Amino acid sequence: MAATVVPPSLPPSATPQDYFRIVSPTLIIPRDPKVSIPVGILACQRDPLLRSIETTIVSCTVYQPPPSTSKKTKNAVSAPTLPDDPILHVTLHDTVVFPEGGGQPTDTGVISTREGKNWRVLQVKRHGGHAVHYVHVEDGDLEGAMSAFVVGLQVIVHLADTDFDRRYDHMSMHTSQHLLSALLETRLNLPTLSWSLTSSPTPCYVEIPRILSGDEIQLIQNEANRLVFEGRRVHVEVEELNWADEKGVDILENGRAVGKTLPQDYTGGVKRVVVIDGVDRNPCCGTHLPSINNLQLFLLPQTETISRTNVTSSRLFFLCGPRLLTYLASSHSVITDTGFILSCGTRLVPARVAQIVEERKRAEKRINDLELELSMVISDSMVSEAINFFQGSEAGLFKKYMQRTDDAGSALSFLSSIAFSFSGSFSERSLAGRFLIVLSSSPSSQSATSTTLVMVFGSEDSLVKQVSDRLKTQLSVKGGGKGLRWSGKYTGVWKNSREGAGIVEMLTEV
Ligand SMILES: [Zn+2]
Repeated sequence: MAATVVPPSLPPSATPQDYFRIVSPTLIIPRDPKVSIPVGILACQRDPLLRSIETTIVSCTVYQPPPSTSKKTKNAVSAPTLPDDPILHVTLHDTVVFPEGGGQPTDTGVISTREGKNWRVLQVKRHGGHAVHYVHVEDGDLEGAMSAFVVGLQVIVHLADTDFDRRYDHMSMHTSQHLLSALLETRLNLPTLSWSLTSSPTPCYVEIPRILSGDEIQLIQNEANRLVFEGRRVHVEVEELNWADEKGVDILENGRAVGKTLPQDYTGGVKRVVVIDGVDRNPCCGTHLPSINNLQLFLLPQTETISRTNVTSSRLFFLCGPRLLTYLASSHSVITDTGFILSCGTRLVPARVAQIVEERKRAEKRINDLELELSMVISDSMVSEAINFFQGSEAGLFKKYMQRTDDAGSALSFLSSIAFSFSGSFSERSLAGRFLIVLSSSPSSQSATSTTLVMVFGSEDSLVKQVSDRLKTQLSVKGGGKGLRWSGKYTGVWKNSREGAGIVEMLTEV
């Protein structure tokens, strides 16, 4: 005796009876369980809040993956990635799992078969006029899977909590987009060029021909929310599709197409119009909420300009429903976390950040001033040493190596400042002696990837060249420079007793 499929315990649908309206006297929903109901009048499109349906398997084949032709933009919700495991293509008589279309991505779902097994539906796609479920064969047992999906058997297809949350977010954003586009059209005479249902919780956007002013954004938002508070109802009207009656889309002066047409590969034979009472009628195959009453719309108070070759348009970002709450919660936590770090209330965060930025600017200036002062002190001390040296040996060469420890982001500028200041005071005092100086600067904590900066300067090009050539060959210091100054970088741990001693030895040999 064949086992029966146990229905999951899910909340009943709250979609009103008059949501789905067949407006043609001759359009009939196929009842024959051997026939797949076409996309346009599927259970998910007749009753968007229905989470489970008992139905029949119409066909099942092993999936042959086609070559990848994905051209999704990086922001849009893409279908869940298919794993390497085998996949079945399953067509059912009817389904609550929405196949992608109308800018709305595919749902995910579950099919329960009579052995009591739950199979994940990773995607549903429209093939011609029919919805094909991509069923994951997790254990790789294709034979077992094929025996579970025998044509004519009963199954239950349903949306688990995560599947329904994803779908609810998608339909909230989709219905809001219809409302928003209708208001942009009727109040500001702006057509919607395209829209993108982005991954939650990123705001979605509509693309329109120009930037909106702050007042216009406010006007549209107020108007939308007035309609939301009125709780305008939404319903769907379907009739047979007559291709001869279908108009092409309008083309703007700049060449962009406006509005929607049915996909050319659609063979379902159903024309579907989504109606927001008194606001909008729009051909669309997506799933839409029966009412806009909980879709409070938030328009991000700025638009983003998009420039393509000789066409400019702009993006208006929006949020509503569960996505608005997620966005609000994350924005709130960003601002409270920042307030906590700054030890102030959230309202004071902008002023406190401005104050810190200002203080930082002042502190940077003070560091620069102090570095300059310190470089002069160091160079003066070296100049005094040189003067003493020349008193004993007028024709001699004053040689000096000095190592510094410095965690500055750009220690090279400090070394340059010492070199500049030394050469300056040398010529100021009209000193004529010969000199050759090497400076190095390492961070306080060193590792194999640390950088030590080395600078060589002297009174003659040939002296600088002699030392820099040896730094390159003997200590693998990589650097460049010509004339009286040369600088380079050493990677690794710099020890005074090793690299430092090497430089002292090089100097004695010059
Ligand atoms: Zn739509």
